[in-house]
Amino acid sequence: MKDRIRQLEHIARALEPDLAQRQALQKPVLAYAEDFLEDLHNLPAYRTTPDKGEGIYRAAIGEEPISPEQALALLAESVDRPGLNPASGGHLGYIPGGGIYFSALADYLADVTNRYAGVFFASPGAVRMENLLLRWMADLVGYPQGASGNLTSGGSIANLIGIVTAREAFGLRAADIPRAVVYLTAHAHHSLQKALRIAGLQEAVLRTVAMDERFRMRPEALQEAIEKDRKDGLIPWLLIASAGTTDTGAVDPLQELGDIAARFQLWFHVDGAYGGFFMLCAEGKKILRGIHSSDSIVMDPHKSLFLPYGSGAVLVRDQQKLIGAHYSQANYMQDAQTSREEAAPADLSPELTKHFRGLRLWLPLQLLGLKPFRAALEEKLLLARYFYEEIQKVEGFEVGPYPDLSVVTYRYVPQHGDADQFNRKLVEAVQKDGRVFISSTQIDGRFTLRMAILVFRTHLETIDLAIQILREKAAEIASR
Ligand SMILES: *Cc1c(COP(=O)(O)O)cnc(C)c1O
Repeated sequence: MKDRIRQLEHIARALEPDLAQRQALQKPVLAYAEDFLEDLHNLPAYRTTPDKGEGIYRAAIGEEPISPEQALALLAESVDRPGLNPASGGHLGYIPGGGIYFSALADYLADVTNRYAGVFFASPGAVRMENLLLRWMADLVGYPQGASGNLTSGGSIANLIGIVTAREAFGLRAADIPRAVVYLTAHAHHSLQKALRIAGLQEAVLRTVAMDERFRMRPEALQEAIEKDRKDGLIPWLLIASAGTTDTGAVDPLQELGDIAARFQLWFHVDGAYGGFFMLCAEGKKILRGIHSSDSIVMDPHKSLFLPYGSGAVLVRDQQKLIGAHYSQANYMQDAQTSREEAAPADLSPELTKHFRGLRLWLPLQLLGLKPFRAALEEKLLLARYFYEEIQKVEGFEVGPYPDLSVVTYRYVPQHGDADQFNRKLVEAVQKDGRVFISSTQIDGRFTLRMAILVFRTHLETIDLAIQILREKAAEIASR
């Protein structure tokens, strides 16, 4: 047996490169990253390739290794060429972020040291780091002491945690579900309906509340709906507001909605996956007034804090509610129970073992301080307003409502012919050009263009370039 163990050890040691081997690996990997960053301003925001990444199948997973150069070549050709380039400042399509480099270094350290961030006993420091970050966010939104939360992989999971917490805190039983009512607008993010379904709440009543002309929930309409539902014997349970809808960036009137939720004792959940961190600038704070009156909030560092993908967060006003919905125990973890000075992610979320994702948020905040984040967010707000003003000056373009945050809706209105068709062609032409990437949506049944400005690398010249491209492409299509 010992011989076999030795033999296996010899092969398994490939898992542990020595210093020289590590350095040999680092060199091409770092060079790849540096080439990407140095070349980024030349790279298209969107690119189609004939094989759409199929080359990845050319190297099937097998017994024998391939070289780092081969692996990086596959990555370059099949992954980093086709499709959207979310790191590009020209990404003006979905709600982007960009991915700051400081987090990449933090991920590297987190992966090398592999601290166990789920349980206090295992890594009190990593748990305290997450708690510090959540406390910082709680202060930012104006939550009291006793608030808590969780760093998640993204906004969808954060919304799911918020909804499960709301369900448990309210004591909703299976028999109550068909009478339980959820209030939201037609522009609420689709991850919320997905979360309701996953949480076993598909049979709950979804009440789509009317919006004003700027796509914000109308408080009087909400109150009327709640009163009627009560009269009809239903159970008004959950109010979901958007702090920045994905479609138009609209912020629901949080203060007024919070008052209504309190009066009728609803759980008030705010989806700020996109807009939450605009609390960091004075302008955003005004727009998000009343966010503190909620019971739970979602905000995505991988959106409005510019982190690489894989970082969302949920905050809950009352930690006991979050624990009540997620706490669990196991015999084999009895040692871990003896040292629990602070609540840890495993007590507060569906996860047990988790990526030490606090570090990718902590390191940039510490190394940069808050100033550049505040500046970048205000810059994005102003760029959206700038685009809103400038695109109207281009013959043929009309805009949607004045932007609350950093999304602007607009469209081209041709002299004759079908406007929807024209705008569809316009998006295609801009995407094909590739220097910037824009997206579209349906608003009131009309094909509408969206300018979503949130990559930290997007600046004034990017917006000017986008306007120039839109002008050129629109003229080209109009003259066909
Ligand atoms: C992006 C977004 C989500 C979903 O977050 P993910 O991080 O993509 O899972 C939820 N709500 C809003 C308003 C969003 O913009």
